[in-house]
Amino acid sequence: MKILVPVKRVVDYNVKVRVKSDGSGVDIANVKMSMNPFDEIAVEEAVRLKEAGVATEVIAVSCGATQCQETLRTALAIGADRAILVESGEELQPLAVAKLLKALVDKEQPQLVILGKQAIDDDSNQTGQMLAALAGLPQATFASKVVVADGQAQVTREVDGGLETLALNLPAVITTDLRLNEPRYVTLPNIMKAKKKPLETVTPEALGVDVAPRLKTLKVSEPAKRSAGVKVPDVATLVDKLKNEAKVL
Ligand code: AMP
Repeated sequence: MKILVPVKRVVDYNVKVRVKSDGSGVDIANVKMSMNPFDEIAVEEAVRLKEAGVATEVIAVSCGATQCQETLRTALAIGADRAILVESGEELQPLAVAKLLKALVDKEQPQLVILGKQAIDDDSNQTGQMLAALAGLPQATFASKVVVADGQAQVTREVDGGLETLALNLPAVITTDLRLNEPRYVTLPNIMKAKKKPLETVTPEALGVDVAPRLKTLKVSEPAKRSAGVKVPDVATLVDKLKNEAKVL
């Protein structure tokens, strides 16, 4: 059983992003980039399924600039077997990525596609859902537990007020939530091994996909600054201010 894992190269979650002065987007020049954290969880889950003897091959895919090769090498170091870069210099919006992934699903015929639930740069939370729709596959989003057996995936999802468990016939699309697993640390020997694993490059044109953007960003702005707090000398003053100034008591 093959598992396809799409991994996105995003601004590292530790970086405080700055909005460009013209409000056209955020500045990503000279900023540390990493694999989207939910995608690390997706790779880890796929590799665990392989280690458990459920999967036979894990294929990592990234769509974007040449530098996405670094992200793919990280996926290979976690334990993916091979990687595909869909190289494009254009901005790739979620619909375009979903179409590219659909083309790869047709080509590779994986039994499972495990994506992150959202990319921390655009927070779209769209790609997995759109891929499932385009490919006509069942989907379970926000997975906190995945069990694969007898041609089915049982997926537990954290929903308001409890847990929901779904059974999906394979092939299927799953997106990962934070508590699905804790990704392993990538070791140096595995980084070295990853350099020798196959990494194929294809283009959107070769996959027959039009990746032209469908959405236009009108404006990006900084969140409002928090106003400074005040120190009060004692509890009585605090209660007085809450009653008479903030009027919350
Ligand atoms: P989004 O819909 O943009 O929030 O992204 C959801 C998930 O889709 C991510 O966690 C990735 O698994 C996948 N994805 C989105 N963009 C890309 C990309 N450019 N390359 C590979 N995978 C992607």
